[in-house]
Amino acid sequence: MGVFDHAEFDKHESLHYFHDDRTGLKAIVAVHSTALGPGAGGTRRWVYNNDADALTDVLRLSRGMTYKNAVAGLKFGGGKAVILASDNAPKSPELFRAFGRCVDSLGGRYITAEDVGCAVDDMRYVREETEFVSGLPKSGSDAGGDPSPWTAIGCFQGIEAAVEARLGTDSLKGLRVAVQGAGGHVGVYLCRLLHEAGAELYVSDVNADSLKRLSDEMPVAVVRPSELLFADVDILAPCALGNILTSTTIPKIRAKIIAGGANNQLSTPEDGARLAERDILYAPDYVINAGGIINVAAEYYGNSSDDDVRADVGRIKDRLIEIFRQAKETGRPTNELADELARKLVAAAR
Ligand code: NAD
Repeated sequence: MGVFDHAEFDKHESLHYFHDDRTGLKAIVAVHSTALGPGAGGTRRWVYNNDADALTDVLRLSRGMTYKNAVAGLKFGGGKAVILASDNAPKSPELFRAFGRCVDSLGGRYITAEDVGCAVDDMRYVREETEFVSGLPKSGSDAGGDPSPWTAIGCFQGIEAAVEARLGTDSLKGLRVAVQGAGGHVGVYLCRLLHEAGAELYVSDVNADSLKRLSDEMPVAVVRPSELLFADVDILAPCALGNILTSTTIPKIRAKIIAGGANNQLSTPEDGARLAERDILYAPDYVINAGGIINVAAEYYGNSSDDDVRADVGRIKDRLIEIFRQAKETGRPTNELADELARKLVAAAR
């Protein structure tokens, strides 16, 4: 399939394929929109089954970044990069330097940072080749560093908003939360916050080592990855990969709330309506998981402290409260309301 007739093509401004012979780097950068600023979004390093899957991922993720950055009120458009990893190739500084040169060649149309499969250290090598990168090691009290703790804080506060709206309580004490991808960056930080708040944790991860570290740290019930989505819990917090809420999975979900950090949780926009029909309150992914990019933007543009970021991340909860209120009032699915808001903001900027 080509690009312009691809199901996930959404008038993306540009798409860039990169190959570096020396390091074996294969990467795709998609810039969805620069209406509100340079296309910004993290780099995902993943073993894809084929190039077509990588293309689908980068097209969807970059559009999601446009919406996320717009709703979060950032001076960023939407972009995303995927690095096509092979099973046996370890990460190397050279690979990220080569990737940094690719990003640099786009002259600032795309700003990168870390996403799944990448970490702060990798971005240091990218920085050696380009200034168009954020999510670098933190210095002093300036905003910066690993975005995932901020993503987790936004998700935690978003879960509080959803609990209030759907369950009518302001406490998470004793509520059962299933966290998918609990061993990952966002998952671990979110589990800590949920545990401190007195929630009962049900967790899964395909990486047994990181799950072991988590269960050494706090009481959790480990659930098989194939069963976690359907666990008998109050809240499902997806913190792994996307495309998990589908016409097949939704009828079997028992949680009353879905609120977590993963991008692209809905397989199609219609899945938002399927959740609403089952009275499952869905926190639109790109609204609840914006904490990390808020920190990335604060670092990139400078002159911001952690306190500024904390205040900005706190507004995620207010946005969700408003979306939940509108959904209740109009009966419309939450994802539809969020998409409508994002598209309005981008159109106004154009
Ligand atoms: P990560 O790679 O650190 O963690 C992902 C975890 O999910 C890994 O531990 C992995 O083993 C696990 N996993 C993969 N497939 C799984 C499955 N089928 N079942 C259970 N576990 C599975 O990535 P991360 O940075 O924590 O990001 C997690 C999600 O949140 C991604 O969708 C990412 O795009 C999104 N996100 C992350 C940030 C951030 O600040 N890091 C910001 C916004 C959105």
